[in-house]
Amino acid sequence: MTPDIRPLIAGNWKMNGTRAELDQIKAIADGVKTPLSQQVDTLLCPPITLLYVATALCDDSPLLVGAQDCHHKVCGAHTGDISAEMIADCFGTHVIVGHSERRGDHAETDHLVRAKAEAAHAADLVAIVCVGETLDERDAYQTLDVLKRQIFNSVPADANAQNTVIAYEPVWAIGTGLTPTRGDIEVAHAFMRAELVELMGREGAGVRILYGGSVKPANASEILGIDNVDGVLVGGASLKAEDFLAIYAACEPHVVKAA
Ligand code: PEP
Repeated sequence: MTPDIRPLIAGNWKMNGTRAELDQIKAIADGVKTPLSQQVDTLLCPPITLLYVATALCDDSPLLVGAQDCHHKVCGAHTGDISAEMIADCFGTHVIVGHSERRGDHAETDHLVRAKAEAAHAADLVAIVCVGETLDERDAYQTLDVLKRQIFNSVPADANAQNTVIAYEPVWAIGTGLTPTRGDIEVAHAFMRAELVELMGREGAGVRILYGGSVKPANASEILGIDNVDGVLVGGASLKAEDFLAIYAACEPHVVKAA
């Protein structure tokens, strides 16, 4: 972790979850009501169909609720899309933009991702901007070049430490059970920290940089202990309250050490 940066444990449910799983959201909302919540932020991004009900369930909980994507425009003829303003209207606080599944499935470019982050900021949402290399790019030793390009082209000019979070998610690590080595995560996060400082000046030193890709209760503590890892973005393991809460609890020794 980075001293003085409040960590964020975020869950991305992707296209999973119906009303039958609201009990898991309730269990997470109740489970994060511990003293650790004074030092660690938690966020869940369920499918948009559950967003409004989820925010109501979290009314008396520190658990924040967000969305997984937004359109870059405020409103208009965009069938099936959701605007940042609509997310805010349902009391969502964050929105993930540029997830590799969106970049891949919907051919989203860095420039579109930046426009979505700008739309998020205009609606007073925190944008979680995802970056990360594919396996081919990794094998070609292009990881840092990809991160540099994605950060410079996807992070908007109005980004600051309050309205923007970066999530480093190597595409090959998502949902595969594979993770980079500790050393690889350390190098990537230190590189991104330096790039953010180059881009945003001192403000970049305070931006949260999450790691995402096959984070589980078993590896969370090791990953959270790496320098410049200011939390995690969790896919599969966020679907079960027990696993999400175990990852949240894994922050404890690290925040105690940082205090
Ligand atoms: C994700 O897609 O954001 C993710 C990190 O997925 P998983 O944890 O399942 O690898």
